[in-house]
Amino acid sequence: MEYSKRLQKKQGLFRVLEKSSDFRHEEIFSEEKKNLDLNKNIKLELKNYKDSFTLKRFNDNSYIIGISDDDQRDEKLFRKTVKHELYHIFKGDCDKEEFTILEGFWKETRARLYENYSIKL
Ligand SMILES: [Zn+2]
Repeated sequence: MEYSKRLQKKQGLFRVLEKSSDFRHEEIFSEEKKNLDLNKNIKLELKNYKDSFTLKRFNDNSYIIGISDDDQRDEKLFRKTVKHELYHIFKGDCDKEEFTILEGFWKETRARLYENYSIKL
């Protein structure tokens, strides 16, 4: 009992350290894209970003979702982040280059509600 607990703990630690290879990022990304019925051209970038983000490339009407180092490591966190960023695209939050603080606050709140509770406002 004691030993298996310690082993579990150890394996848990290895899973965290193993980084992005222990679950399928692309699979989760496709799943969540499908949940929103999003047929837009969206590229997922798993790089050493400090923060996750979404941006629109206006020249070819495509989107890039960048996932931060931290958000890549944990499956739950990764899914939440993907949901959050996809929801911004779904609502057209990135289609306008400028917006007011109040609009920004609303966009963030809306995306967080979807990320956490799948509530679509
Ligand atoms: Zn956001």
